[in-house]
Amino acid sequence: MKFESPPWVEIDTVMFDMDGTLLDLHFDNFFWRDLVPEIYAKNKSISKEEALAMITENYKQVEGTLNWYSVDYWSHQLEIDIPELKLSVAKQIAVRPNVELFLSKLKNINKQLLLVTNAHPKTLQIKMQHARIFDYFDRIVSSHSLNLAKENHGFFKRLQSVETYNPKRTILFDDSLAVLRQAKIESLKYLWGIKKPDSQQEELVCGEFPLVDDFEQCFPTLNNGL
Ligand SMILES: [Mg+2]
Repeated sequence: MKFESPPWVEIDTVMFDMDGTLLDLHFDNFFWRDLVPEIYAKNKSISKEEALAMITENYKQVEGTLNWYSVDYWSHQLEIDIPELKLSVAKQIAVRPNVELFLSKLKNINKQLLLVTNAHPKTLQIKMQHARIFDYFDRIVSSHSLNLAKENHGFFKRLQSVETYNPKRTILFDDSLAVLRQAKIESLKYLWGIKKPDSQQEELVCGEFPLVDDFEQCFPTLNNGL
């Protein structure tokens, strides 16, 4: 799909996902695919390959549900203190290029800025302490507080109960195709994906939504509504 900068004059509300959108997903992939299996293998005296296979099976069972994103669930399932482990490697949390500049530009033209994440409140807290991008937001919402994951049916309607917005004048940036598809079902008008959520993995290929490579491509300019 051809990339065009968002039509900012037609947009009041800008919703951002966090992991893979504002922050490099590499941290989370490293954490869940590498570090957690390594610790689990050590704790259970099994090989890392066996640990990865067992954990992957466990991941699959709760994919797309809030438990998938719940550090409490995983701490219990894997008998590992997940928040503590996250904190121990939190220095590796990285903001994607041009995010802060983009947020400040949107703030300057008075857009309503919302951070809407599936991250568990404990994870959110750790990320907020290690990335300096959170002061720009008018509201930060963890989907756990609404008891639905963003990709679950009815999420965006329920979001209106904590923050009102006009779906016809809203843009969502999110690296999850499942979330973008759910937002489309619920009539959010402008839906943008992320080309490379993990800086160290391949680019996504998708014909359904425009994909942002660098947020510089979306900066408001005189031509698109500054
Ligand atoms: Mg994400």
